[in-house]
Amino acid sequence: MALGVPSTRPDRAQTVRDLLAAGKRSFSFEFMPPRSEAAEHRLWDAIRRLEPLDPNFVCMTYGAGGSTRGRTVSMVGRIAAETTLTPVAHLTAVDHSVAELRNIIGQYADQGVRNVLAVRGDPPGDPMGEWVTHPQGVTYAYQLVELIKGIGDFCVGVAASPNMHPRSTDWDEDIRHFVAKIRAGADYAITQMFFEVEDYLRLRDRVEAAGCEVPIIPEIMPVTNAKQLVRFPQLSGAPFPPDLERRLRAVAEDPEALREVGMEHATSMSERLLAEGAPGLHFITLNGSTATLQIYQNLGLHRG
Ligand code: FAD
Repeated sequence: MALGVPSTRPDRAQTVRDLLAAGKRSFSFEFMPPRSEAAEHRLWDAIRRLEPLDPNFVCMTYGAGGSTRGRTVSMVGRIAAETTLTPVAHLTAVDHSVAELRNIIGQYADQGVRNVLAVRGDPPGDPMGEWVTHPQGVTYAYQLVELIKGIGDFCVGVAASPNMHPRSTDWDEDIRHFVAKIRAGADYAITQMFFEVEDYLRLRDRVEAAGCEVPIIPEIMPVTNAKQLVRFPQLSGAPFPPDLERRLRAVAEDPEALREVGMEHATSMSERLLAEGAPGLHFITLNGSTATLQIYQNLGLHRG
């Protein structure tokens, strides 16, 4: 497709909400704003390689610190204008006044972007450090949802935590606050990364038991290198399942074998999640394309 020409395919959902309401399974990818020109080239290479997979939407994260925030806005605009993809812009409440948040949302409206993922964000530097609300800002994600919904007809997604948010004291509190985001108008949720299908299923049951019906899309993040053996359990909020931990540790010195174990686990999790009725799968790409392409192939999802 020529640059700057919007997609005309009839099956292109304008919002994630429409797509999920149509009962279609959703497949989506997540990118991060690039930090340098070289990183931007790499990102565009990944976008172009993944575009033929025809994902239902692609997300661009929003940095906790200030340095890449403008890039999220400009990259989302470029994706909307120059590709066939439907972008979802992440937005956080960190260090922003309501006026600034309104301004960013206005920029998305100008770019024709209607999908926003509203997350509170973490304090820069230390995710578990003291949260300080901007004097003219908001404190929780549900307030961000209210703000965005109050500005216009945006489709808004929120975060869900299969292993409970680390700042929540218990599951009752965690689910109550999650449900508050949906009651504030959120249309769907995407989970934090997790490595045990049961954690997703339990979260879904808890949300249902609280009388809340909302599509919760599981996030898929394959382990592909040894550094992630430490990093990913921290991010997911739980240790790896013992069997996966044992298999990964056994090949920790062999990058190829480690990657194979990680990919195999991500593939079998994906298969099981779809069999259990998950509304789709959301793949973290780390701005590369190889792992996502491989899982797509393993799952037989390649539509090209
Ligand atoms: P909230 O829903 O506001 O919850 C945070 C904590 O506050 C929870 O413990 C909750 O129980 C508690 N809480 C909520 N409401 C209340 C209340 N009324 N009173 C008291 N306590 C309350 N981070 C980024 O910086 N940029 C990104 O682009 C980004 N994208 C993400 C995408 C996904 C799919 C996910 C799962 C996470 C993402 N994050 C991102 C990380 C996210 O910002 C952190 O997980 C953050 O710690 C929590 O955000 P939240 O939206 O879940 O917060």
